[in-house]
Amino acid sequence: MNLHSLGAPAAAIALCALAFGAALPQQIRPGPAAAPASANAKRGPFVMERGEGRQPIRFPRNEELVYDVSLSLGVLGSPTVGKVTLTSKVEPYHRDESQRSDSADTADLEQVIVAARAEGSYAVYSVEEVISTRVLPQVFPRLVHSTVQKGTENRRRELLLGRGPDGPVATYRSDGHCKKCDDRAHFVKPTWPWQDAHHCDGCKRGEHRVWREPRSKPTPDAVVDMVSAVMLARTMVEQGRADASFTLVDRDKLWEIELARGRRGRRKTKAGEFDVVEVLLNTRPPEKEGGKSEEFVGLFGLHGSISIWMHPESGVPVAITGLVPAGPITLDVVIELVRFSGTSEAFRSVVKPGDRR
Ligand SMILES: [Zn+2]
Ligand SMILES: [Zn+2]
Repeated sequence: MNLHSLGAPAAAIALCALAFGAALPQQIRPGPAAAPASANAKRGPFVMERGEGRQPIRFPRNEELVYDVSLSLGVLGSPTVGKVTLTSKVEPYHRDESQRSDSADTADLEQVIVAARAEGSYAVYSVEEVISTRVLPQVFPRLVHSTVQKGTENRRRELLLGRGPDGPVATYRSDGHCKKCDDRAHFVKPTWPWQDAHHCDGCKRGEHRVWREPRSKPTPDAVVDMVSAVMLARTMVEQGRADASFTLVDRDKLWEIELARGRRGRRKTKAGEFDVVEVLLNTRPPEKEGGKSEEFVGLFGLHGSISIWMHPESGVPVAITGLVPAGPITLDVVIELVRFSGTSEAFRSVVKPGDRR
């Protein structure tokens, strides 16, 4: 995706969702869903083990976090340009409805679905992007990561991670504008009467997009996608660990990521005032891949400085701030928690909204 082709605030929204699609937390508000949620909570989070010596990843069973995305414009204020909703759900998994059986080996299978939905609009540009990851009870694909963008532009991407017959492998595919297919619906009227109708040369319509051929490459063991990386970061914080390192696959590229705890502080949000700890992110390409680490930072779109603030006891992301390049200007973006439900009991505000001390 070319970030510069996106409208500025929309790019900010999409990028921030991307940057933290993976780091989601859990919820609290009592409501009609409270009963099943608490019954679910008693079972504890779903834990994905990643092998000896590696940081496991915990997934809340029924959590929703809602964030406002705003631009910090100094004296011009902080207009809200979008919303990001992060959900984590654990559901029963049936390998294949047609082969459904009551046998013990499939009865208790579970899958995790984590999704970050970003919505926003600015001027004539609108975007709705859903970045999701499913954790499946099988060796391949173990993780199914997908990105669907709708709105002014339409894109789909899919990444499968797991262990194939020849070892750990990543399979990636993306879509693109169909090239000269036979579908007459894709043909455009000629500009001049002496021309023939011809296939559209390029547009942003979703119906003109087709999947490109998937590409596979071997990976190290226990790699994660962007979304599970956020959950991993969260688990690291929740478990009180100082750091974690792992290999991330983004599209068809590998990255070595190091996470560490940074500054502590407090942050006031519409959801309350929370203790927070900064999660520091250090990325570099693996030795073998000649990529530059700046490229990765560019991918997040959060130029140099991105700060992720999590609640220290629960790992719930409370705020993310960073600079997003948008064409000729750089935007100062703030993503802040406004609502939460299904979070662990450890997630509590220091001061409730409206309280005065
Ligand atoms: Zn076509
Ligand atoms: Zn087209």
